[in-house]
Amino acid sequence: MDEFTNRVALVTGAARGQGRSHAVALAERGADVVICDRCEDNAAVAYPLATKEDLAETARLVEAAGQRCIAVQVDTVDRSAIEALVARAEAELGRIDIAIANAGVSAGAPIQDLPSSQWAEVIGTNLTGVFHTIAAVSPGMVARGYGRIVTIASMLGRSAAPGQAAYCASKWGVIGMTKSAALDLAGHGITVNAVAPGNISTPMVHNDALYRMVRPDLENPTRADVAPVFASLHGQPVPFLEPFEVTRAVLFLVAEASAHITGTVMPVDAGAAAKVT
Ligand code: NAD
Repeated sequence: MDEFTNRVALVTGAARGQGRSHAVALAERGADVVICDRCEDNAAVAYPLATKEDLAETARLVEAAGQRCIAVQVDTVDRSAIEALVARAEAELGRIDIAIANAGVSAGAPIQDLPSSQWAEVIGTNLTGVFHTIAAVSPGMVARGYGRIVTIASMLGRSAAPGQAAYCASKWGVIGMTKSAALDLAGHGITVNAVAPGNISTPMVHNDALYRMVRPDLENPTRADVAPVFASLHGQPVPFLEPFEVTRAVLFLVAEASAHITGTVMPVDAGAAAKVT
């Protein structure tokens, strides 16, 4: 029997990147999977977000693994929308046992130039969206006495970087919320943990806007041009990790056997956490 047979998992921001990797890995191990993504660009974010076609492709991959999939265009900033998705999943699939609050955006500027629109978008998606996700799934988990919740923070949830005030505030906030939620839900068979990735090879990192931010000295910086800058943020001499490296940590934390691991932060960051006191 696969490890997650008869489990139902929700993954937000699952149209591509790390979210798709988590959704497909859970399906390959026996879980039915509920996925959502906003599938819409935002003026405050300087790179394209996922598309409806991306979300459909993740659904196809989940179903190709032999599992049921509910895929809906939902913005996690909209509490009623994520609550409606959870209600539909509980009605059609019976429950949600596992929730991965993964949806996130990156946008930044030096704080003296940071527009309120960017602040609102980053805090809205990365912090409030995670709250909405936990708030939506936890009542059913409490009623059933079982749940595994993982939030996706960042190495910038325990450190700082220039131009990242909003992103850092959101991810430090995710870690504080995760720990508090772990205590709130501790008596109900529910664990809540954070994973803190380093630089992961997804469209959030590999885009012209970020490349230009880290190499303002070049007109059209390439991946090779930015690699040394990204490597300097890690401890090991590697610029980027693959999404499945984060998925491995997620799979560990959402396992039934991880019953007494809660309120923790697991870095998947090539040693960056070792540099934080
Ligand atoms: P990504 O841009 O490929 O994926 C993020 C997904 O979230 C996209 O499909 C996007 O459309 C979706 N999304 C954004 N806002 C949303 C909203 N309000 N509602 C629903 N969906 C929304 O990037 P990724 O690297 O896969 O990011 C996944 C998570 O990992 C994010 O929380 C991100 O902050 C975090 N993270 C990424 C890195 C990295 O280096 N890539 C590092 C640390 C943490």
